[in-house]
Amino acid sequence: MQFAQVYGLQKIKEQLIRNVQNNRLPHAQLFLGNEGTGKLGLAIALTQYIYCTQRTPTDSCGECSSCRKISTHSHPDVHFTFPVAASKEISTQYIENWREINASSMYFNVTDWMGTILKDENKTPNITREETRSILSRLSLKPYEGEAKTLIIWMPEYLKKESNALLKLIEEPPQKTYFILVAEQSQQLLPTITSRTQLTKIPSYSNDETKAFLDQKYGLEKSHLEQLARLADGNFRVATQLVENNSIDYGPLFRDWMLACYRNDLKSVSDLSDKLHAMGKNQIQLFLSHGIGILRECMMHQTIDNYTINAESSQVDFIQKLSSTLNAFFIEKIYTQMNEVIYHLQRNANPKIALFNLSINIRYHFIRK
Ligand SMILES: [Zn+2]
Repeated sequence: MQFAQVYGLQKIKEQLIRNVQNNRLPHAQLFLGNEGTGKLGLAIALTQYIYCTQRTPTDSCGECSSCRKISTHSHPDVHFTFPVAASKEISTQYIENWREINASSMYFNVTDWMGTILKDENKTPNITREETRSILSRLSLKPYEGEAKTLIIWMPEYLKKESNALLKLIEEPPQKTYFILVAEQSQQLLPTITSRTQLTKIPSYSNDETKAFLDQKYGLEKSHLEQLARLADGNFRVATQLVENNSIDYGPLFRDWMLACYRNDLKSVSDLSDKLHAMGKNQIQLFLSHGIGILRECMMHQTIDNYTINAESSQVDFIQKLSSTLNAFFIEKIYTQMNEVIYHLQRNANPKIALFNLSINIRYHFIRK
């Protein structure tokens, strides 16, 4: 992984590069950032820069033997430690899975990772005592190729007190050994880690960066980009998932929901809330965004003479019918309420309760003949 492959974060990259060039690279660093930021990508890009035999002032070459080995996670002097599930297991057992998940994305989280190594997802992630032993013995060996050894610890939140020996090593690193810890939750880190590592905070991406990233990767329409960026809230994991899992057709679901509200059919409303709840929070937000788009068209259709409804042909008839059962004031009200639910979902509201409450409110707004 070259620096160029990690989106944005230019200032941080420049600082890391300067550290290597001036021989002032801290022996133990902590890259701390929320889910969906470039922290793991940066850790690997930095490692590649350290080992590259033909580096330029701005990046590793990406082609020398070191670069190639590091980008495939197979350099003998670069070690990885990450959470596993069973108490006797160590990271090297899962290196193939690690290569695979890294090849597909750099924004995965612990749940994604555990999902690739486990059939039973309920097991607790753990960096084991055996892992500590294994790391100590690997780091005690002389470097195979270069002069330095590097250990990247992904999610050191899962290091427990029994990993004392490893923590001690981070406190007093052996000659030419670099530790790069990549974490999300500073409050869950052992104090030894935060006090003995040099902290680099990796910021979440801005809305504009998210839009540019998605546009570059998928080439989407402007209005869709806007919507996705708002939902992703700086998290590239969520942003890519929203695009890649977005094969659900919300049209029929939204129609059923509006119909259930219109008929005052609370049983169907409750079933639909369950169904949406099962799809996950991000999908609910997309579902509501779809609804907001429909309501916008209803509003335009009602207030502008000869307005051409801007929607897929399968939706046009529904939009006309829905417009005839709601007056403009209530369309606006539902529109606002849906936006509010999206806002609260992003701040950890319970999706099922939020949807059910919304349905109860919507039901009052229909004109019934
Ligand atoms: Zn290179």
